[in-house]
Amino acid sequence: MISSHSKLPGIGTNIFSVMSTLAEEHQAINLSQGFPDYACDPKLIELVNDAMKDGHNQYANMAGIPLLRNLVADKVNRTHHAAYDPDQEVTITAGGTQAIFTAIASCINPGDEVIIFEPAYDCYAPTVRMFGGLVKPYGMAFTDNKIDWDMVKKLFSANTKMIILNSPHNPTGSILQEDDIQALIKLIKDTDVLILSDEVYEHLVYDGKKHLSVAAYPELRERSFIIASFGKILHTTGWKVGYCIAPEFLMKEFRKIHQFNVFSVNTPMQVAIANYLQNESVYQNVTAFFQEKRDLFRSLLSNTRFELLPCYGSYFQCVSYKVISDEGDAVFATRLIKEFGVAAIPLSAFYTRSTDCQVLRFCFAKKQETLENAVNRLIKL
Ligand code: GLN
Repeated sequence: MISSHSKLPGIGTNIFSVMSTLAEEHQAINLSQGFPDYACDPKLIELVNDAMKDGHNQYANMAGIPLLRNLVADKVNRTHHAAYDPDQEVTITAGGTQAIFTAIASCINPGDEVIIFEPAYDCYAPTVRMFGGLVKPYGMAFTDNKIDWDMVKKLFSANTKMIILNSPHNPTGSILQEDDIQALIKLIKDTDVLILSDEVYEHLVYDGKKHLSVAAYPELRERSFIIASFGKILHTTGWKVGYCIAPEFLMKEFRKIHQFNVFSVNTPMQVAIANYLQNESVYQNVTAFFQEKRDLFRSLLSNTRFELLPCYGSYFQCVSYKVISDEGDAVFATRLIKEFGVAAIPLSAFYTRSTDCQVLRFCFAKKQETLENAVNRLIKL
């Protein structure tokens, strides 16, 4: 028997794959994994076809096609008044998760400590550990997700290497406010702590609120990897195209890993996205589009016994089911699929210690009829 040492003992298949598979098996309405169930703009598909027909079928530039990197740099400059050099400071990635992995891989060494805010997106902690890093979780207040920055300070040590931020936040839909940013600036002042800022839901912010990117704050930007995703803007999560922006000294390290891991991202998609996003109204439209979905889903859910938690951003709505059941969230989510035909994500999957607050996450990036059908089933609970 050949023995092999697991790099990630205790880690199984991630919750999104598990719940989506279970949903398929039981033909449940899948509000678990975050992806749209409607088509993207046919024009975008035409642009991919055009790119293929025009011969854009070979390796792209390792860092991404210049047209797309320029577009990213222009957009960040216009939105956040932050100048990034498209040649040295922007890299197109195979989606957000790969960008997060590569950023962590490029700077976490054994013994480095990384602060994350829980509930936290599921890939942060395992990736940190894969490179010998130690995860220091900060538990956000339940249910308003406020961060007490004095408590975060207590997690700091001489070994603190990185803080991972995520705003708009998956799964809670909370967003960082100006006072959070100012507290963070104070906290990292006179330290060498790096920031990984996962901003993949940057355009999904509601009620006229504003997404605050760390790019807009020079004290943060100078030490930050910022991660973004085209899938969330274009309704094409399966295309797996995103990007990372970072100051040159960090991006240099990022690309050392990227070139041996991904090398380059598929060319026709990059060409199509760059051409499609020349039309800037896409960004504004996506905000209004998801605001409508969030409002509809919340109003439908208000007819159920679930308690709606706040949602200011992302395409996720969290609910407490305390008044419905005292089961654990994984058990309840499984029963919801099998007996009621609706799939959700149990929030314990977003905690290193599987903390169970009896909360589920639903994704509302779905057709109106999907949301209506799902809630018609949830009403029975
Ligand atoms: N980001 C998506 C979610 O939170 C899932 C991505 C994935 O399945 N890896 O549901």
